[in-house]
Order: sequence, then structure tokens, then C-alpha cells
Amino acid sequence: MPTRDPETDLSQASGWYAILPKPPPARRLSGHQVADWVVVGAGVTGLAAARRLGELAPNARVVLIDDYRIGYGASGRNSGFIIDTPHLSERVATETNQRLSRLVVAGLAELEGLVRKHQIDCEWSPRGHLTAIVERQRIENLEATARSLDAVNEGYEWLEGDALARVVGTRHYYAAINTPRTVLVNPAAMCRGLGDTLPVNVEVYEETPVHSVRPGSMVQVECAEGSISAPNVLLTTNAFVTKLGFLKRHVFPLFECASLSRPLTVDEQAMMGGAADWGITGFASMRRTLSNRILVRHGTYYGSQFRLTQGMRTWLQGAHKTGMLKRFPMLGNLEFEHTWSGVYCMTRNWASYFGRLEPGVFASLGYSGVGVPRGTISGKLLAEYALGFESALIDDVRAVSGPPRLPPEPFLGLGVRARLAWHRFSNRAEW
Ligand SMILES: Cc1cc2nc3c(=O)[nH]c(=O)nc-3n(C[C@H](O)[C@H](O)[C@H](O)COP(=O)(O)OP(=O)(O)OC[C@H]3O[C@@H](n4cnc5c(N)ncnc54)[C@H](O)[C@@H]3O)c2cc1C
Repeated sequence: MPTRDPETDLSQASGWYAILPKPPPARRLSGHQVADWVVVGAGVTGLAAARRLGELAPNARVVLIDDYRIGYGASGRNSGFIIDTPHLSERVATETNQRLSRLVVAGLAELEGLVRKHQIDCEWSPRGHLTAIVERQRIENLEATARSLDAVNEGYEWLEGDALARVVGTRHYYAAINTPRTVLVNPAAMCRGLGDTLPVNVEVYEETPVHSVRPGSMVQVECAEGSISAPNVLLTTNAFVTKLGFLKRHVFPLFECASLSRPLTVDEQAMMGGAADWGITGFASMRRTLSNRILVRHGTYYGSQFRLTQGMRTWLQGAHKTGMLKRFPMLGNLEFEHTWSGVYCMTRNWASYFGRLEPGVFASLGYSGVGVPRGTISGKLLAEYALGFESALIDDVRAVSGPPRLPPEPFLGLGVRARLAWHRFSNRAEW
């Protein structure tokens, strides 16, 4: 394996990735090469961008590069909710919420079309998802979510008491909103399937860290064991874009942690009750998956110095188990087999970045916690934008992009850590 920047080293595979069959050996980029298009970063954004370039320029050589394997990065290590409604907020204009809605709906439709067309085996489950609260006092938050959904004409169902317990098998939650179009998946399996079905003119190089990107009439991309130049390069590296020297004062990483259990036994399934699969988001996320495992996502850390050490992984695994047992005390023997962290790319005002950074260098990134549908549609639109296309969706993605400048360190770190601490404290009863 190539030497890695210790700050971006994700040495622990996610549970989603670990339960898949081992992939064939990676093809790494070596020597000096020339391409028509290079896409750096093979998460959902890069996969969608490379696919679209391959489709729209069938005679072009499109090269997609990733530091790790497809499905290994954040796109494969998230909670697997493909949410049909963005993080709507009453604090932003209805027009912005409508644009975000159109984008995530288009992203979900794109993924659904590809999963169906290529029969990608990824536990695709159109179950919808529950935005839930534990404490009755939080009802105003849920009502605000409902009003935001009303404002963009999104359908939903309000669940409480028996109706909610019948779905999730626990009375731990006070109420929830079910948004029915969300899809639940194994995200690593989905990414791998997307990577395996790219157009024939897209060449994939994995285990190929890119060390620098130098703009020019031919953009020079220096990799660990070779280099490649192309007139146009698309950066879809999420928060790691700063390591390449771009957007350093506009985006920052947050690390989010998750655990996946072993499969439930038949007895455990019977004791648990509820539906065969479901997904809850809120202060923490929890899922029962189609393969009968429990996923917990909880624990957010500011990124610039963060490493998930073995001690911390053990601590998190214990915390995730405690949270699960509050909801399902009958699952005392259920172990979490995998605990990992992954990176969100955050901005100050939750606006993503989409556009041209330098002549020949384009980027799309920074979708906070709902990047699977947004990244997919943004990657596809970035390819179209770089090729000179115009469309209503390109107008939408450009209108919701534009992160403001961040304060310098140490103020950024102090501010982010203080907000995270307040969020944890004020939501302690939700966990
Ligand atoms: C624990 C967790 C739970 C989450 N849950 C959800 C969820 O349920 N639903 C949802 O929609 N979103 C969720 N998210 C957020 C979502 O995963 C991201 O927003 C999304 O994956 C972003 O996709 P991306 O393709 O832009 O970036 P990434 O998936 O981060 O892809 C970037 C790729 O670039 C590669 N790369 C970076 N630097 C270099 C380099 N120098 N050289 C070569 N390659 C490089 C990386 O290896 C990576 O594969 C979650 C995130 C985490 C961490």
C-alpha cells in the first residue's frame, strides 16, 4: 500500500465494506499518462461525474482515481440513508429548500435507475426513514420539520405510540416523522456496484493517492507512483480537497463514528419485534438492516487532529452498545463486530461548493451529512457543467453553493468544538 498522510488515513474498514467479498487487486496508476479528463475521488460524487463524462464524451479517455478502494471512503462508510428530503430549515428561504429538494430527489432517482438497470446487489430497501425524538419536549423540533416538508410539498406520516412501536419494536422514541421515499442500503456495496458498471471509456485507478494538482493548459496530477495530465480535472475528494491546496478557508472535516453488529439470531429477532428493516435518524441514527444487523451512528469529532485510536474504538463500541440497550434491552448478547469513523465535509453555512476553482480545475463537495443523493446529482451535474451544458438543475446546484470564509485556527477549532459540546449536552436525553 502507498504511504499515506496520517491525517487522512482511514485504516479501519467500515462494517459495510468488511462484510463484502474481498475485491480483486487494485490497478494503480504508474508512469506518466495523458487523459482527456481526470476525476480525483471515487465516492458517489466522483463515480457520478466519471459516469456522466464517459456517457457524454464516449470517445474521450476518462480516468477516475482514488486513494483507497471504491466503497472504502465516506460514500461507503456512512449510515446508508439515501434521504429524499434534504436537511430543510425554516431559517433558509423556501426557494433554497425547493432547490435542495429538487436536487436530492434527482440524486435518489439517478441511483435508483442505476441500481435497477445494473441489478446492483446492495440491500436496496425503499422503506422510508423516521426522523425521531426521544423526549416529549422536543416536539417543537419535529413540528418544525413537518412545516418545512409542507412548504416544499413533501409527503410524510406522523407516528407516535403503538404505531411507532409496531415499526421499530421499541417504545423508546416519543414520536417520529416517516418520509416514505428514503431508501436504505449497504452503501459500500452500492458504490462497488456503481464502480463495476462505469462506461467502457472510464478507467479506474485505486490505491493511488494524488499528492498535488497543478493548474495549467494541461493540468498536472502527481500521484504516489506516477502522474497524469489532462486539460480538465474534476476534484471530488470531499473534505480532503484542502490537502491539495484548495478551499482551505472554506471547508473543514468532521469525523462521524458508527458500529455494525453481527446478524441477529432468530431468537433475538423474535424478542425485538418490529418491522424487518427500518432506519431512524435524529441525534443518533439507528438501523435494522435487511441482513438483520443493527447499525448505530453516534459521536462527532472535529477533524484536524482526529484519529480513531484502538482505545477510542473500544470506548465508542461500548457507548454504541449502551445506546442500543436503552432501546432494546433484550439484545444484551449482541456484539458490534465493526466500529469505524468517516469524514463529513462541512462548511460554515451548510452550502456546498460547486464550480470552477481554476482554469481546467472543477470541484463539487461539502454536503454535510446528506451527501449520498446530493453528491450523486452534483457529480453528474459537475460533468455536464465542465462540458459546457446548461440546465435548470445546474442552476439549482449553483444557487445552493458558495460557502463563506471560515475563521482561521485556532478560532475555527475552538468554535466547532464548543458547538459540538453544546449539541452533545443539549441532546443528552436523545441518546
Ligand atoms: C459515519 C457517517 C454517516 C453518514 N451517513 C450518511 C447517510 O446516511 N446518508 C447520506 O446521504 N450521507 C451520509 N453521510 C455523508 C456522506 O457519506 C458524504 O456526504 C458523501 O459520501 C460524500 O460523497 P463524496 O463522493 O463527495 O465524498 P467521499 O465519499 O468522501 O469521496 C471522496 C473520495 O476521494 C478520495 N480521495 C480524497 N483525497 C484523495 C487524494 N488526494 N487522492 C486520491 N483520492 C482521494 C477518498 O478516498 C474518497 O474515496 C455520512 C458520513 C459519515 C462519515
